This record gives sequence, structure tokens and C-alpha cells, in this order.
Amino acid sequence: MSQKNEQSVEFEPIPFYRPDVTEAEISEVVETLRSGWLTMGPKTRQFEEAFAERVGADNAIAVSSATAGLHLSLDAMNLEPGDEVLIPTITFASTGATVIHAGCTPVLVDCEVDTLNLDVEDAARKCGPRTKAIVPVHLAGHPCDMDAVQALATERGLRVMEDAAHAIPASYRGRMVGSMSDSTVFSFYATKNLTTGEGGMITTPDAELAERMRMRRLHGMSRDAWKRYSGGSWRYDVAYAGFKYNMTDMAASLGLVQLGRLDDLQRRRRTIVERYCAALADCAEVELPTSRPEVDHAWHLFVVRMRHERLKVHRDQVIEELNAAGIGTSVHFIPLHVHSFYREHFGYNEDSLPKATEQWERMISLPLYPGLEEREVDRVAATLKQVLERHRR
Ligand SMILES: *Cc1c(COP(=O)(O)O)cnc(C)c1O
Repeated sequence: MSQKNEQSVEFEPIPFYRPDVTEAEISEVVETLRSGWLTMGPKTRQFEEAFAERVGADNAIAVSSATAGLHLSLDAMNLEPGDEVLIPTITFASTGATVIHAGCTPVLVDCEVDTLNLDVEDAARKCGPRTKAIVPVHLAGHPCDMDAVQALATERGLRVMEDAAHAIPASYRGRMVGSMSDSTVFSFYATKNLTTGEGGMITTPDAELAERMRMRRLHGMSRDAWKRYSGGSWRYDVAYAGFKYNMTDMAASLGLVQLGRLDDLQRRRRTIVERYCAALADCAEVELPTSRPEVDHAWHLFVVRMRHERLKVHRDQVIEELNAAGIGTSVHFIPLHVHSFYREHFGYNEDSLPKATEQWERMISLPLYPGLEEREVDRVAATLKQVLERHRR
């Protein structure tokens, strides 16, 4: 090996994310391509059943994305135009947009400072006569305080729809995320813990809600229309102005293999998290992520927070210097109330949700994925420490 080669290995960038797809996924997808059935069909049904079993749900409905799933789920809850839906401000764009697409008004809720999940006490303060639903988002894969969410929902008669885009597999007091609420929506986007490229899954204990979602997922065509695909009748009835939110069998076959690998993938994530925590334990300039004793964390993200009182620079500068050292990072998320749409349409400003405003400025998500090698974890941690030492106050 020439010295040049060793150097280029040293400076090889560590991307924020790399997909983890093996030959097993590839051959399953190829088999589906050869089967003559590409769109929603037997593989999707099989994936739904296996997924429901994995999270302890009675019904699972596969969809084209979590965004589609959030919209479909709210739509099937038959909320009225102008109804209010409580959502955390620290979340992805689609948690808010789908509430608006369902004809409702999102009401933004501040965060808990340890988990960064929605603060149920703040949700209770913002709960009014028009409030009809609450959407806990399990940020980074740490389940929300679901006992508190359910107590509020029962007291105020709210529907509960969990945004579990980060939370496969996760549990709260021994109950799997996916088995606790009116509906739970998972994402299989390329970067998520389990991927189908693009895709999502809704779970629900409510058979009627499940039936409505199945029908509305595919153009609002009735159950008989579904049978048309397998049974051969050409006749169908459009019973609702539905959506085109179904999963494909290509995606489902990828998902089936990923589901079989999920426990291995999670073990790998936990090992990486432990390694980061050990490496950064003595670094006074960062706050490490919380994992409360009553939860099993899905560890979708590893979010560290800068202790600005110990630093001469802001988080943005730290990100820039990590990037210059070849380390990809991200921020999850810029809170909704910071974005122009929410300021202009709903009148939010920085002071509306003070805790989230303070916390998001401190956050950096470090690379975390099963294919991240040990030496890469060490390099990320060491580089972060060097950057912080350079700017120590
Ligand atoms: C990724 C994500 C979504 C959207 O998932 P898609 O499958 O890409 O539609 C929704 N909510 C959160 C919190 C997410 O991280």
C-alpha cells in the first residue's frame, strides 16, 4: 500500500447514511419482478401479516409512504373541517402537512427537554373544544410518554395517531409501538430502520377503521373491487373519492426480507450507540441522548446537543467543521414553528414554543446505521471531540 492510499482511507468521507441492502433483498425483489405481479398483491398481504405479527397489531395496512399513511389515517378518522390536531413542533414536515390536507388545523406543542418528544402538559394546555386528535411522534425512536398521552386522550375524547416513522422496533412499558393507539404509522423510507425504498405501514386495533383505510387506499373502490384482482370479476363500485396510496409487491418483498433481518440490524444499532456513548462520556461540551428506563429505544437517530455555555461557537459552526473533516451530519428537525409557512399562516414565532426553540439550536444528528464500522464510529467521536476542544470556552 502506498502512503497516498492510506491517506485517502483516512480521509474517506463518512456519509450521514448508507442503505443496508443485501443479496437476500435483491433476489427477493428480482423474484417478484419475475413472478408477473408487480403492484399490490400477495407479497403486500404477506408483508402486512408479518408486520402485524411483529408489532402485536390486529390489522396492518401497507401504503406508499408514511406521509400517505398519516393522511389516510386522519382521513379515515372522519374528522371535521376546522378540527384541531395536536402535533409536536419538533417533527418532519409531513406530520403537519397531512393534518392540513385532512382539512384540520395543526396546533403545535412544545417538547420535553430530555427526550425532545412532545410535552403532554403543554398539549393539555393547548387542548380546546375543537381539539379532536393528538399525534405523538417518537423522535429518534424514543417512545413518547404514552400513559400521559392516553390519559389526556381519554379525558378529552381525542383520537390518537402515532407517527412512528422512527420507531420500529420500539416499546413502551413492554408494549410494542404499533399496538397501543387508534392508529400508528411507520415509514420505510430509504433512511429508516426498516426500508422498502419508499413505503409505509399503518397498524390499528379497529377493524372498521382498517377496512375504511384499505378501501380509501386504492381509489375508494369497494371490497368487492379488491376481490376483482384475485377473483376475476370486472365489476366494481367507487364508494369514496379515494387515494392512490397502495404499496407495490416489489417494495413489499424488500420489506419482508428487511423485517426478517430487523433484530440483527437493531443489535448493530445498539452496539454503535454504546460505542458513541462510551467515547463521548467524558466530553463536557455535549449532552448525550436520553433513554428512559421504561422504553426500548429504536435508535433511529443519535442526537447529541451542544452545551453552548461551554463553547465559543454555535452548533452550525460545529456541523461545518465536521463536514470539512468528511463527516456527514444532519439536524432532526428544524421545528415547524421556525418555518415560513407556519409563521405566515398560523402566526407562530420563536417565542411560541420556547423549549423547542432553545433545544433545536443545540442538536446534531451523528451517523448511525448498521453498516457504520467501529473505526468509523471512533473517528466520528474523536473528530467531534477535537472540534469541540478547539472551541472550548
Ligand atoms: C420520515 C418521516 C416521515 C415521512 O415518512 P415518508 O415515508 O418519507 O413519507 C414522517 N414523520 C417523520 C417523523 C419522519 O421522520
